[in-house]
Amino acid sequence: MERQQEIVDIKRHAKCLQSRNGLGRDDGMDKDKIREAVLMLLEGIGEDPGREGLKETPDRIARMYEEILSGGGETAELPLSKTFHTDSAEMVLEKDIVFYSMCEHHMMPFFGKAHVAYIPDGEVVGLSKLARTVEIYARRLQLQERLTAQIADAMMTYVKCRGVMVMLEAEHMCMTMRGVKKPGSQTVTIAKRGAFEERAELERTFFAMLGRA
Ligand SMILES: [Zn+2]
Repeated sequence: MERQQEIVDIKRHAKCLQSRNGLGRDDGMDKDKIREAVLMLLEGIGEDPGREGLKETPDRIARMYEEILSGGGETAELPLSKTFHTDSAEMVLEKDIVFYSMCEHHMMPFFGKAHVAYIPDGEVVGLSKLARTVEIYARRLQLQERLTAQIADAMMTYVKCRGVMVMLEAEHMCMTMRGVKKPGSQTVTIAKRGAFEERAELERTFFAMLGRA
């Protein structure tokens, strides 16, 4: 009886830790299914999944997806709840945040830099938390436009701020490695919220701070 209570306690503790880490979600990741699918993919390509270099590939890919697609269903509420008081209402810009994501149309990587600016309204966020926010929304099957919007919306939702502007510049492997094959070509997306939508001079300041004016 005592032992059963112990098991219940351990399970409850694990659940509590999970939700504290933002992992208490059902992300629907089924590694067995991924392994099976990769095996079929290899056969479909005409490969021999039994040959030495490929034997571990289904398992490697399953473990890799667990990492690079780990953000599914997670929000940036937790990192963005760590704030500090400020009396300043001057723009804060965190630029050149390197990110890696996966295009949902081809399941190929797209990667580049994110620039996140906001106008504080009594509080600022720890700088590493902005990078963490970008990472959370990048680690799932994405569209660059949606990733840009999700970062901006998370800032507006979880941080007391007057406005947000997010710009993403990225290379899409599905474009540069196949099809039109334009190596190095960049896709640029922008999302503006709050004060940035109303005051054009804020956008000019954003580009000036980026060194693009
Ligand atoms: Zn694509």
